[in-house]
Amino acid sequence: MHNADPNMGIVYVVGAGPGDPGLLTVKGARLLESADVVVYDALANPALLQYCPTATTIYVGKKAAEHSMPQDQINALLVRSAREGKRVVRLKGGDPFVFGRGGEECEALAEAGVRFEVVPGITAAIAAPAYAGIPVTHRDLNSSVTLITGHEKEEEYRDPAALPRSAANESSDIDWPSIAKLPCVAFYMGVKSLPRICAKLIEHGMDPSTPAATIERGTTPRQRTIVGTLADLAARVAEAKIGAPAITIIGQVVGMRKTISWFEKRPLFGQTVVVTRTREQASELSQRLEELGAEVIEAPTIDLCPPSDLSQVDAALGRHDFDWVIFTSANGVTHTKKRLMRIGLDARTFGGCRIAAIGPATAQAVGRELCLNVDLCPEQFVAEALADALIAKDAVAGRRFLLLRAEIARPILRERLLKDGAAEVSDVAVYETRMAQSLPPMLCEALAEGRVQWITFTSSSTAKNFFQLLHGDREKLLAGVRIASIGPITSATLREIGVTPTVEAKQFHIEGLVKAIFVQQ
Ligand code: SAH
Repeated sequence: MHNADPNMGIVYVVGAGPGDPGLLTVKGARLLESADVVVYDALANPALLQYCPTATTIYVGKKAAEHSMPQDQINALLVRSAREGKRVVRLKGGDPFVFGRGGEECEALAEAGVRFEVVPGITAAIAAPAYAGIPVTHRDLNSSVTLITGHEKEEEYRDPAALPRSAANESSDIDWPSIAKLPCVAFYMGVKSLPRICAKLIEHGMDPSTPAATIERGTTPRQRTIVGTLADLAARVAEAKIGAPAITIIGQVVGMRKTISWFEKRPLFGQTVVVTRTREQASELSQRLEELGAEVIEAPTIDLCPPSDLSQVDAALGRHDFDWVIFTSANGVTHTKKRLMRIGLDARTFGGCRIAAIGPATAQAVGRELCLNVDLCPEQFVAEALADALIAKDAVAGRRFLLLRAEIARPILRERLLKDGAAEVSDVAVYETRMAQSLPPMLCEALAEGRVQWITFTSSSTAKNFFQLLHGDREKLLAGVRIASIGPITSATLREIGVTPTVEAKQFHIEGLVKAIFVQQ
């Protein structure tokens, strides 16, 4: 009979996958979305916390200076949170039951009478080889794969409670004679002990020429794969200064990498690209760059907010006598929609108007957010082109225009329309841009360490803000960094700042910018 306390919470022990945030399960993502508390450790990608923006997140991994939270304290934390009625997600790297101590945590929960569920994750020994082009089984090569812990005192086995169980006390339970006979073995936590592992396998009869690979930070943009043989892998790994987390796989399947390596072959793999957009806009560009293999660092340089005085906006949205309404950015569309809803209006406000948009992204936003089709969207995505297109349509003289744009838009469109006889051009700022407080520390670090290959600029304002926020010796920080600009206006601003763009997009949109970077590789 089920007699659980209805006020009791629940703990979901969830596998976070090996690193690539896309390798979290759908169930894991849903549970994060509904969690009150998320307890995560070092190997769970913190990017996954985007699924739970309002949950309390508790990091229990190792911090730079301190040790990780001891296991009994983690257990106590889980039990306590559940008893407080919380929905707790215990997020653990890879799979929680594969060298993840998930079993111990579930034991503690069971003993305390706390409800729990387990959501498996993709474990490192499957995922990292897959991303390195190594299938862990192959019909012609091996019919088994064995997962083994290298038993060094890393992360998961570090606290004193684990000592009796681990090889930290030299009581290794690894049966070398048996393992040396296996066709494919994967070692977790084995970087430091790799020389010993390889020596033991050879000593017990494994062929020293057996192909072997160590994969560091598998499935992440910083994945590195070192390939060798059982005889020389340890030396190669030491030379490449491979560190944790890394997985070693030994077996003939490693040879398949020559043919089916894919992840590390993507066009921007190994490149770090900075995306300097507003917080709202960054994702599309970032996603495209990540798909091509880049490591993306987002540096939002502007925050968008409604204008401090909304009277002009409200007055314009309340009128019905405009012939044309012009949107100049997707953000303008989003803010217009928000304001319409707020003041009890809707898209019918624009029912009698024709609609123009600068750029396909803006036109798409009009369709998506307002459910309206655009009547005019010029080939080129600048204000001048829109003015030309309107003039060519003979749609300017005597007409009334409403321009819904950002506070800092250039006055050129308004001037051109008035010059060509527009009866009225109501130029209304629907949002304001504010400079971000500072650049993310992660970006400053990457620049200082010379790890950045590209910085992308998608507007004049992001360019200005970025360089205003960039402190330190600019020349030194930007040495070797290539600059990508979305179009001539942004490029002109960059030159004014004293920065020469390496490439400029031929089509002035995100895809054009991505293409320009791609071609330059
Ligand atoms: N529960 C985890 C394993 C935790 S033990 C899982 O199922 O994957 C920690 C070890 O996992 C590391 O020392 C390393 O050997 C391996 N590991 C975890 N993430 C990894 C990654 N992204 N790339 C390579 N190895 C990884």
